[in-house]
Amino acid sequence: MILSPNATNRVDAKAINGSVDLFNLASNYTKLRRNAHHDWQGDCPKCGSDFFHVYQLKGEWRFRCYECHDKPTDAIGFAMWLQGCDFMSAVAYLSGGSFIHTHSHTPSRAPSEKADAKREGLPTWAAAKLAAAQDILISDPAGQPGRDYLAERGLLPATWQAMGMGFDSAVAIPGTEGKWQDRPKAPAIAIPWYSEDSKLVGVRYRFFTEHNGRKLTAMQGSKFTGNLFGAHAMYPSKLMTLVICEGELNAASIAQVAGNTRVDVLSIGSEGGTIPDRMNGQMALYGAVVAWLDKPEQASRIASKVPGALARKSVGGKDANDCLKAGNLGGMIAAARLGLCTNDADRLALLWDLYDGGMVSPGLDNGTAAFVKRLAADLGQSVTLQNIGGAWFTGVQS
Ligand SMILES: [Zn+2]
Repeated sequence: MILSPNATNRVDAKAINGSVDLFNLASNYTKLRRNAHHDWQGDCPKCGSDFFHVYQLKGEWRFRCYECHDKPTDAIGFAMWLQGCDFMSAVAYLSGGSFIHTHSHTPSRAPSEKADAKREGLPTWAAAKLAAAQDILISDPAGQPGRDYLAERGLLPATWQAMGMGFDSAVAIPGTEGKWQDRPKAPAIAIPWYSEDSKLVGVRYRFFTEHNGRKLTAMQGSKFTGNLFGAHAMYPSKLMTLVICEGELNAASIAQVAGNTRVDVLSIGSEGGTIPDRMNGQMALYGAVVAWLDKPEQASRIASKVPGALARKSVGGKDANDCLKAGNLGGMIAAARLGLCTNDADRLALLWDLYDGGMVSPGLDNGTAAFVKRLAADLGQSVTLQNIGGAWFTGVQS
């Protein structure tokens, strides 16, 4: 709603501000990370400082940059500030580029409208619901079952927090229909999917046990098809290796053991998921790509989308999370990367990638440590590895 009904030339600023999700709008210009329940922070799109905040104040969106715009400002103000334009131009900009004086009963459809709608994030209520679930999982006593479940899967708090996971004690179980309040509920882990431009596009609910033969549901309006889990955190470069897998917990497992060794992880979600064509360019920027899926034909299907990618299938019915718990996941990822090396320079680069990963928490797992020792010996390099609290660290002086 851009115009108030009875005044063709009067602009309803409140309605416009109410209709614009300032978080989504600002996310087009900067990568926002969550600071607190209703506060997100990122690099200022104008001055570049790290003091740009988007937040909710009494349910209304505001932004401010403590460096260059230290005044709580609404969506219209954001557009004026960013575009350096006047009020009416900002209104036109926020209403999709259509001028307010050309109000039409049959608005013309832009050709890209359908594609854009598909890329739209979930509404604000969904982000708020996820934020509440995140808060509960991080520290609330009510989140203990969720923390226990993830710990049992071998996932560290730093891992699931980085992935924005949450806990909801009452999610309507799979295989039930009808009014939400009438459906039986069970606890579930909430796992957010973001698009590569950091829009929240879906929330997967993973139940602790099967209900009616299923463990997964999704928040209403979620769009997994056409997106990849982890896409917002990818940094494609020739120096990086990309691992594509099934399932969010597999992706979390791989990120935990290899995320500090120049590995990005993306999950296609379910077995039938795929890489959207629009991301082919980003895939091609990686130095190496491993497609690790349960079934060989699925691994080959995904690998065939990316030139030069290596297809790996799960061995002995064990997925990445099983291997994480067994302490050999890091070694398996490293071995797959070794399979993509073509010369000693590649192998040496891999050794130092792993070495660097051992300098920071959570260190390297047993499999990776053993791999590093073998590879270093093969390459005539000397590395120091030290076990601290069950994990291996490199470059440690005692
Ligand atoms: Zn600024």
